[in-house]
Amino acid sequence: MVGKLDHIGIAVANLDESLKFYTDILGMELHGTETVAEQKVRVAFLPVGDTEVELLESTDPEGPIAKFIEAKGQGIQHLAFSVPDIEAALAELKAKGIRLIDEKPRYGAGGAKIAFLHPKATNGVLIELSQRG
Ligand code: ZN
Repeated sequence: MVGKLDHIGIAVANLDESLKFYTDILGMELHGTETVAEQKVRVAFLPVGDTEVELLESTDPEGPIAKFIEAKGQGIQHLAFSVPDIEAALAELKAKGIRLIDEKPRYGAGGAKIAFLHPKATNGVLIELSQRG
């Protein structure tokens, strides 16, 4: 069903501060930032090898990233796997009885179609499916 690891989503309190570590210290390249209003996040993309680090800063104290940091602190928030056909993947998961956060795909950063699986169905890992352009 899933292809490569599309990206690793990391919740950060301050995007600009966190970026310095990834760019200045680790030498990764920033490939842009984007605000996704629907998810109340500002996102930075840092490609590495065949995947990407996605840094997520909340734009709203009530947003999911703010709540994640409040509960667990900064750190890895989700893993995203690429799928060729997200509607088909969601239908297959639903048929297998897997609990979904998103029954239908929504718009994600970078113009991808994304959907999250419920962590209760994945042994505690928030998993995102991503279908790119
Ligand atoms: Zn993501």
